[in-house]
Amino acid sequence: MLNIVLFGPPGAGKGTQSQKLIEKYQLVHLSTGDILRSQIAEGTELGLEAKKLMDQGLLVPDEVVIGMIRSKIDANSNSAGFIFDGFPRTAGQAEALDKLLAEKNTAITMMLALEVEDDELIMRILKRGKESGREDDQNETIIMNRIKEYNKKTAPLKDYYSAQNKFYAVEGIGSIDEIFNVLCSVIEEHGINA
Ligand code: AMP
Repeated sequence: MLNIVLFGPPGAGKGTQSQKLIEKYQLVHLSTGDILRSQIAEGTELGLEAKKLMDQGLLVPDEVVIGMIRSKIDANSNSAGFIFDGFPRTAGQAEALDKLLAEKNTAITMMLALEVEDDELIMRILKRGKESGREDDQNETIIMNRIKEYNKKTAPLKDYYSAQNKFYAVEGIGSIDEIFNVLCSVIEEHGINA
């Protein structure tokens, strides 16, 4: 299996690049943010609880997102692989993911990190908020909280995957296709026949 963690702060382009990567490599896209937003839209209890935290730009508890990922992995165990987008976001989530994949006799192939400066991120997220109506993309204080949560809890995962020789950084500035081509060349050099 080709199992990719697409990593980077909010607004780095993970969702956009995931869409292109799943098409090219026939992977299943698992975005915990998308799953949580669909739970909110359905009005489930989990969604309502998660919304309180998401509205403040804070992470939802590890056990909630790990449970969601576990059921999606179980439901798609015959796929060619997964793109994890917005997950894992903490050390606890990364350890749980390694265990879940080991139970399926597979593992993370690589972490691909999209690197973008904070000023550019804020500009992109505000633009996305205007276009989509997504609430946590429209308020600069919430956006700053999300970037702070990322720097405090998620950025350290770079070391977790570096220690396994699985970390690759890519500049997240340029056209969508330029960035996509760089991601594909890293996957083809280090991932597909690894
Ligand atoms: P995203 O769409 O990935 O930017 O996620 C939107 C919000 O959903 C985040 O600000 C968090 O509140 C929550 N969220 C998404 N994925 C996770 C995760 N892996 N762990 C904790 N919270 C998450």
